[in-house]
Amino acid sequence: MTTIETDEFRKLLEAERTRLLDAVAFLERENAGSLVEERGELTGRGDNNHLADMATATYDRELDEGLGDGAQYTLDEIEAALRRIEDGSYGVCEVCGKPIGAERLSAIPWARLCIDDARRLR
Ligand SMILES: [Zn+2]
Repeated sequence: MTTIETDEFRKLLEAERTRLLDAVAFLERENAGSLVEERGELTGRGDNNHLADMATATYDRELDEGLGDGAQYTLDEIEAALRRIEDGSYGVCEVCGKPIGAERLSAIPWARLCIDDARRLR
């Protein structure tokens, strides 16, 4: 079996974690300010654009929240992967116990399953 270079994946995971934390912090700042901002804009205009503006604002907020949830989920997975590196179980499929291919780990460093099990369980 090929030994997986965990240091490399740790760096990948930590870089991705930093990127996601930045993204989440950015979204939280945006969302905190957006309600006030939108209301101010709406009151300043005529009636014609109200519905369209509100629809757009709601749509934007839903998109942001969706991204936030996805980021939080990935952050949890990254934390779990970093713990697996610490305890030496990183890169092993949780279902069949075989090593997860390095190629797959490069694409998804927090992968818990080998490509075969990931496909089967999808
Ligand atoms: Zn497997």
